[in-house]
Amino acid sequence: MTSFNSEQELFKSLVEASPIPTAVYIGKDITIVAANQGMLKLWDKDASLIGLPVREAFPAASLQNLTAKLEQVSHSGINYHQENETVAFMIAGSPEGLHFSHTINILKDAAGNQTGMIQTLTDTTELVLARQKIADAEADLSSARTEEMKIKTELQRLGRMVDISEDFCNYCDLEGNTIYLNAAGLKLIGMDKKRMKSSNLFQYHSATSVQTIRDIIMPQLLRTGKWSGKLELTHQQTGEVIPIHKQFFIIREDITDRPIAIAGIARDLRPEVKAGKALDYKNTQLQIAIRELEFLANSVPVVVWTSDPQGQLDYINQRWYEKSPLPVKRALGNGWADTIHPEDEKRAWAAWRECLKTGIPYQIEFRLLDKFGEYRWWMVRAIALKDDNQHIIKWYGSNIDITEQKELEKQKDNFLGVASHELKTPVTSIKAYAQVMEMMFRRAGDTKNAELLAKMDNQVNRLSNLIGDLLEVTKINTGRLQLTLTKFSFNQMVEEVIEEVQRTALNHAIHKQLDFDREITGDKERICQVIINLLTNAIKYSPDSDHIILSTSGNEHQLQLSVQDFGIGIRADQQPRVFEQFYRVSGSREHTFPGLGLGLYISAEIIKHLNGKIWVDSAEGKGSTFCFSLPLLNQQ
Ligand code: ADP
Repeated sequence: MTSFNSEQELFKSLVEASPIPTAVYIGKDITIVAANQGMLKLWDKDASLIGLPVREAFPAASLQNLTAKLEQVSHSGINYHQENETVAFMIAGSPEGLHFSHTINILKDAAGNQTGMIQTLTDTTELVLARQKIADAEADLSSARTEEMKIKTELQRLGRMVDISEDFCNYCDLEGNTIYLNAAGLKLIGMDKKRMKSSNLFQYHSATSVQTIRDIIMPQLLRTGKWSGKLELTHQQTGEVIPIHKQFFIIREDITDRPIAIAGIARDLRPEVKAGKALDYKNTQLQIAIRELEFLANSVPVVVWTSDPQGQLDYINQRWYEKSPLPVKRALGNGWADTIHPEDEKRAWAAWRECLKTGIPYQIEFRLLDKFGEYRWWMVRAIALKDDNQHIIKWYGSNIDITEQKELEKQKDNFLGVASHELKTPVTSIKAYAQVMEMMFRRAGDTKNAELLAKMDNQVNRLSNLIGDLLEVTKINTGRLQLTLTKFSFNQMVEEVIEEVQRTALNHAIHKQLDFDREITGDKERICQVIINLLTNAIKYSPDSDHIILSTSGNEHQLQLSVQDFGIGIRADQQPRVFEQFYRVSGSREHTFPGLGLGLYISAEIIKHLNGKIWVDSAEGKGSTFCFSLPLLNQQ
């Protein structure tokens, strides 16, 4: 035992001398027989622990793990070694995980029997931390590398963009020496890539631009960091001066903000200049076209004008000056209307507004004041220019001075009035004499001469009808058509008219379909006149047929009368015109029909005065139906 004890002492002193925290244990209950200062310090205990079994020595939970490991090695007889084991020791009163290289080795005697265990805990915390630092640094480095890679790729991508950009992109130092010039830039100034590095800003700009760069751009760049505007490049081979739009930027060092280089982007302005020139040319052409149009407009003898879709005049030709007291400038817009005759004003505006709204052609006659203070009559016409969607773009109008024409019409009406009036008296006398003479011949038994005088009476009747028509027309045209309203039975009146006309119509039977039997208020004589006119026309223009149909219909609001014949008919395009004054359908057969072209005009005027409507429905060669309708309510 002594030897063992001395052996134990030896161990003890060895253990104590060891710079590594070391402890020695023996026996089944794992009694601590030796523990150096290093170990005691870790355990946070003093030497009083020595001689105690570990379970007693370390009741603290924090060292349970260590105890368990010692027990495990003692039982299994297998050494334990673990690098970088984290063990929680109480350091300055609080638990702290430290890293150790942990070894528990079995001690054996000469016979190989297990006598005890030696435990060493080599502190590797520093090492681990150092390694961690290295690992962190490595990680940092690699992430920095990835970042750098990213930036590099980004830059490469940007570089490629700049390379393939169609705009001139350059990069030079503060003296203007080229650092980089992209392919488009090289091409624009006709420079070889090899010569790029030795080139300079001042070399490939035009002389004036060089001046500008030196005097204006450089100082501004250093002051504000950027400049943009127009400059010129000089083509290195052809010498062509190329207009460009240039942007300069100062590049600064990240940290110091010191300017280190100048970047530039330039756009070739030649296409724009070319387009501008083409535009200028087009504009000149347009100006010429406008001048030509104006010349044309001024060369015609009428006033020509244009207006916007809202009806505001925006152009009036020179002819305006000849008659109007207003200068063109004042007549534009709605200015012209200041000179309109007060009686025509309302009518003219209503018509113009209606046309502006609907886009239908404008046609009207009105009076405008002239420079001599007189009113002149104008025939005003305008049509709308429309786009594909039928929206009005502009109105084109013309004013024709019809004062003289109106004057002539008035003279004609006066003449007709006077002439027919003067004719009427002798014709009435002739008629009276003819009738007296006819009577005398009959009494004397001279039937032959009596018949001749009857024929003469017939012709005199026709003559007096014609004179009557002319008188009527002059009355209408001078606004002297007067209506005498009475209450009468329409049906009865129609029957009487049919009877009267039938008496002289030898070849036609007048069939009647009378479905309107009311008393109406109207000018009986004039309505009779209209019906007689329609019936005599129907007979006159259907020489090859033998009958005519007169029908009436109506309700409490209006009546309608139609006269249908089966004669020569009227061509569709001529139908609306038959109601015009002196209008007669031109054609080979019509000349054989006598007439002045006044009957329908007079009829239409009478119906118009009675607030009614008159129209025709006809097919050439088949016959015509003339109709009129009259409102009843308004007449009551
Ligand atoms: P006119 O004295 O010539 O008959 P109107 O004013 O009565 O004058 O008629 C004008 C023109 O209308 C005629 O010249 C004729 O050409 C045409 N017209 C009138 N009535 C008929 C009809 N029933 N059938 C065919 N044509 C007609």
